[in-house]
Amino acid sequence: MTVSDCIFCKIIAKVISSDIIYEDDRLIAIKDINPAAPLHLLIIPKQHIASLNEIGTEDIEMLGHIQLLASRLAAESGISARGYRLVNNCGEWGGQSVPHLHYHLLGGKQMGWPPK
Ligand code: 5GP
Ligand code: ZN
Repeated sequence: MTVSDCIFCKIIAKVISSDIIYEDDRLIAIKDINPAAPLHLLIIPKQHIASLNEIGTEDIEMLGHIQLLASRLAAESGISARGYRLVNNCGEWGGQSVPHLHYHLLGGKQMGWPPK
């Protein structure tokens, strides 16, 4: 897959529409099209990085920004007190289906552990 075929790059470029919750120069947060919980957001860096396997020290600030944004969006969505989950699926066995780095922010229901 080339970057121009990437569905999240197309969402970032607004070639494909999405429900955008937050956007700045480095990140976008959108509603997941197929929500797995009452709140299911995707936090996506604008830079095309295929997966967590491809990150480096140059990405530390962006990765920290994702954590802070997740905490902020959880608070703004009213799910902070009861708890929530921030998930990255990496690669085939991790269950990653879109090869552009992203984190799932899930909340609004009790979740189980461990994953199946
Ligand atoms: P992954 O399986 O790679 O961890 O997560 C990919 C997520 O992207 C899935 O939860 C899927 O529902 C979501 N997704 C796939 N295509 C689209 C789309 O076109 N728009 C939105 N908003 N979400 C998408
Ligand atoms: Zn991409």
